[in-house]
Amino acid sequence: NRRYRKTVIAGNWKMNMTASETKKFAEEMKKVMPRAKWCDTLICVPACNLQAATRAFKDLRIAVGAENVYYEAKGAYTGEISAEMLKDLSIKYAIVGHSERREYFGETDEIVNKKALAALEAGITPIVCVGESLAQREMGVTNEWIALQVKAALAGVPAEKMRRVIVAYEPIWAIGTGKTATSEQAGEVCTLIRATIRSLYGARVARSVTIQYGGSMNPTNAQELLAQPDIDGGLIGGASLKPEQFVAIINAAN
Ligand code: PGA
Repeated sequence: NRRYRKTVIAGNWKMNMTASETKKFAEEMKKVMPRAKWCDTLICVPACNLQAATRAFKDLRIAVGAENVYYEAKGAYTGEISAEMLKDLSIKYAIVGHSERREYFGETDEIVNKKALAALEAGITPIVCVGESLAQREMGVTNEWIALQVKAALAGVPAEKMRRVIVAYEPIWAIGTGKTATSEQAGEVCTLIRATIRSLYGARVARSVTIQYGGSMNPTNAQELLAQPDIDGGLIGGASLKPEQFVAIINAAN
């Protein structure tokens, strides 16, 4: 797999960590970070800390990502941040369509799609999140639902930009709950996501796209999850707040 695509370990700090805590985190990381790593590593931080994190993580070779991005270029959208603004801060990644944004901030598939397109337009890699609820899994509609979400999120994305897209499979019932999908369950859906991309863009593009798993990934389960042929990394919430745990997951990817 690594011949075709990158392994990407990404933290998602959500609404955690002040700028000074970010600095402290980086100092702790410096003590434990492996010298060589075979995966790309980044942490998505609250918008107000993008610059502090960029400064703090520089020597660690940890890239900084945004947790959200707005799709309009500029104008009267109080409180929003455009892809160009992120680009100007040298930000290379932005999470798009996290289930918390879909649930608490009313992000629809259409909005998620517009955000992914806006990020790509600015040269930013969107980490496009998809995932089913527990009710959907129990009803047996996971695969159909995920395929729909993937197609909706990628509508209008040209093939040449697909290489830069990351898709994160995050079953909602596994986020922050301590319940992980079994590696087989997670692997199966990630394989389906790749098949969906293949149906849209063909095999060459599909095999080049990084697909992450997210949802209670931790040092104990990371290796097994990452051993699945279509899981190329992780989107890590809780465990990315603790240097030793985040490093253990990076090491599991090595
Ligand atoms: P978690 O969060 O690792 O705390 O479950 C993952 C995510 O929401 O991206």
